Amino acid sequence: MSSPLATGTRGICLRCFGRAFGKEGSGFTNLERGSNFLSSGGDKLEQNGYVITSDEKCSICNGLFQNFGKYYDMISADLGKIEFNTILVGSTFDQDTLLTEAAFQEIFGNRGENIKREFNREFGKYLSDRTGKEADLVEPDLTVLMDLRYDSYKLQNRSIFVYGTYKKLRRDIPQTRWIHRRDTDASVESIIGEIFRELTESRNYFLHGAGREDVDVRMLGNGREFIIECTDPVRRSVSLDFLKQTVNEGKQGVEIDELRFANKSDVVSIKGSTHDKSYRATIKFTGAVNAEQLRYATEKLSGKDIYQRTPLRVSTRRSDLIRKKGIRSVSVEEIGSDTAIIRIRAEAGTYIKELVNGDEGRTEPSLTQLYGEPLQVNSLDVIWIHRNGD
Ligand SMILES: [Zn+2]
Repeated sequence: MSSPLATGTRGICLRCFGRAFGKEGSGFTNLERGSNFLSSGGDKLEQNGYVITSDEKCSICNGLFQNFGKYYDMISADLGKIEFNTILVGSTFDQDTLLTEAAFQEIFGNRGENIKREFNREFGKYLSDRTGKEADLVEPDLTVLMDLRYDSYKLQNRSIFVYGTYKKLRRDIPQTRWIHRRDTDASVESIIGEIFRELTESRNYFLHGAGREDVDVRMLGNGREFIIECTDPVRRSVSLDFLKQTVNEGKQGVEIDELRFANKSDVVSIKGSTHDKSYRATIKFTGAVNAEQLRYATEKLSGKDIYQRTPLRVSTRRSDLIRKKGIRSVSVEEIGSDTAIIRIRAEAGTYIKELVNGDEGRTEPSLTQLYGEPLQVNSLDVIWIHRNGD
């Protein structure tokens, strides 16, 4: 043990001294910088009442950088409980330490590195070595948040995300779970999510869809893009083939395909996608179908821009706006006695039921308006989402 410091002087370790020159030159550790700058900066140290000491006597770090083994022992049991591939360290220091450091670094012209940064980096490297997991500064599976005020920690376990496309083959389930409903009520979200949650031993799940269809609308063709997110997963290396097979063989009216692992930013990009969609609609007429008049009406709508005020049925969820939407094409596929099947290709976000029934004049023009008699959609399917410029 060295002797106590003289009254009025404060100890500083070589690392914390070196860190005050953290922005000077690259390829050096702060310990090396400490040695390099000792000859040129030594006088200033002394003039300001500092003396180089061992780590434990350092007025900034208090020997913190010697405690990595202790911290590791503290968290290792919890680290062992979950599967992760990448890791990052974050930290909270007490305000006094940060202020003491700032005052010290000011003496040398504020060209230093913050103790938090050095700690996060160095303890991150240490954890990487001990666990064999790579550091990831952007989207780590696991973030270890060290609170150095209380020698405590918190683990942040990143959600696991899987991208895919789904088809919904039934007309009685919503895309996502309804709040206030039991989780046992089926939805596209729960049919995929329950299986994925079990596989990953996660806490909860959420489905993020690239738009949504109504409960009574089937989603066919090439399927709709989605990302299923499971929170706080214990397992990450799960078989997506198995997930797909289990969902599809469950025959619950949802089929998934094109699965791949994804990340949070993919959620934003699929949510923002604006692809044309093609629909097949069965239309109900009040009397017999006037085939000639129907063909006239569909031809009039093809290639036209329409104006849709937010439908009454969704006005509690969406703001009341008038949206201009491009109707690319409308064609008649089949004519029955009082029904007809038509095919529509329209810009993303077009309300198809309202395009047909006119929504009491809120959609203009509409098929009802051009045909001259009230028309209703009996059933509707999304048959293709034009994702690839097709
Ligand atoms: Zn120190």
